[in-house]
Amino acid sequence: MGNIVDELKTILEPGKLAVDEQTLAIYAIDQGPVLDYQLPLAVVWAETVADVQAVVTACAKHHVPIVARGAGTGVSGGAHASPGCIVLGLERMNRILDLNPDDETAVVEPGVINADLNDAAAVHGLMYAPDPASFRTSTIGGNVATNAGGLRCAKYGVTRDSVLALDVVLADGSLIHTGHQTFKGVAGYDLTGLFVGSEGTLGIVVGATVRLKYLPREVHTIAAFYPDFRSAAAGVLAVGKARVQPAIMELLDGGSLRQLDEIHGSDLSARGASLLLIQTDGFGAAAEADVVRDVLAASGATVTREASAEAEQLVELRRNSRGVEVDDEYRVGEDVAVPRSRLVDYVGELEAMAVAHGVQLKVVAHAGDGNLHPTFWVDRLDNQMDAEAMQRLGAALDKSITVALAMGGTITGEHGIGQYKLRWLGLEQPQPVRELQRRIKELFDPAGILNPGKAI
Ligand SMILES: Cc1cc2nc3c(=O)[nH]c(=O)nc-3n(C[C@H](O)[C@H](O)[C@H](O)COP(=O)(O)OP(=O)(O)OC[C@H]3O[C@@H](n4cnc5c(N)ncnc54)[C@H](O)[C@@H]3O)c2cc1C
Repeated sequence: MGNIVDELKTILEPGKLAVDEQTLAIYAIDQGPVLDYQLPLAVVWAETVADVQAVVTACAKHHVPIVARGAGTGVSGGAHASPGCIVLGLERMNRILDLNPDDETAVVEPGVINADLNDAAAVHGLMYAPDPASFRTSTIGGNVATNAGGLRCAKYGVTRDSVLALDVVLADGSLIHTGHQTFKGVAGYDLTGLFVGSEGTLGIVVGATVRLKYLPREVHTIAAFYPDFRSAAAGVLAVGKARVQPAIMELLDGGSLRQLDEIHGSDLSARGASLLLIQTDGFGAAAEADVVRDVLAASGATVTREASAEAEQLVELRRNSRGVEVDDEYRVGEDVAVPRSRLVDYVGELEAMAVAHGVQLKVVAHAGDGNLHPTFWVDRLDNQMDAEAMQRLGAALDKSITVALAMGGTITGEHGIGQYKLRWLGLEQPQPVRELQRRIKELFDPAGILNPGKAI
């Protein structure tokens, strides 16, 4: 039958395939922790739908796994190379094919960077609402495949809420179109919704029709500094009880503020032990901001009346709060979500479990959605594995998961299961549900070549 790499070389034009070690190493992993390091057989870059179809068809013929890849900013190992795989890079398929200001929709190729779509939409007074903190680098295809969330999701919903239709190359190389160009549409099963968040395991997304929202005329940002983390979490509930709907509600603990100060030379940690950052938008933004300020001040916060330039800068700092960190065996960032009513209890539990297990902790949260990113880490020893510290880290991570689940939460609010979170999936999803998902996977991908070992 020959060799898959040789066949791909004959199918693809020059410059669309690489097998050199340096490229293979770059494309072997995303930004998630690595459990099982594998080099792909080759990296290929599709530039057209036909390229994707040709690659998938050849891989199907040779029973070779395919790992789709956008920008590789995923943090769950969803784009890590599987054993003996071809990594299929979609980053060159980066054209905005249509932007219709009257329909308030756009049709994009999968490699379009989230920020580029937003820049194009802004010209028409529109925006693409889902804004992962990685929006300047991550792709719409990757956002769709992970059902990415972001800061503005508190008001505008997650990626799935903005995707109307998809073009998808299936495991046999055929191309299908799902969904509709209209905002409404309930014909048949919602296959578009199924592909969103499927992490490259059901098909390769080669096109997306997305809904755009109005770029708000006015935005007000409020920074509320609290003396402790639990009080700041309580502030989130207080705003909800006032029945005001901010676009952004981000929560940072003391560890995150100290880290931002170190990186950016800011003085955030001198101003409080926790920061709640709230943004209201739209024509009622000023009135809503007034209500929010009163509510937060009454809940014990020192509330700033920032000039918008400084407030905007705080949001920007929050977007960068992950810094250049890449998770590894010593540092793991989590992604649990809990019902908002349990937010205060959960942040208290997090602080207690870090102390109990002797591990370091910092937390940022898309608090409006009850979605928290606690990062636990232990200091690394030079050139040797500290088994005892790793054991403490693992115990803290497990505890953060079981406590979130006991509160009615989920193990992943937006980053996906990928490879890393598979070990906890059984704690959340009962066996019959997992079995049904396995059968769906089998239906779409009977030979199991699409991103094996991920997501389910
Ligand atoms: C600094 C930083 C901040 C982040 N902030 C957020 C945040 O606020 N919210 C959030 O949700 N995530 C966040 N993330 C995680 C990450 O950016 C998102 O998961 C993003 O959606 C991944 O997009 P990508 O283009 O990098 O995809 P990749 O990492 O390349 O791939 C992600 C997954 O999608 C699959 N995939 C990619 N493209 C396709 C395609 N065209 N068809 C089928 N499958 C495909 C891959 O196989 C993989 O399973 C952050 C990451 C970083 C590094």
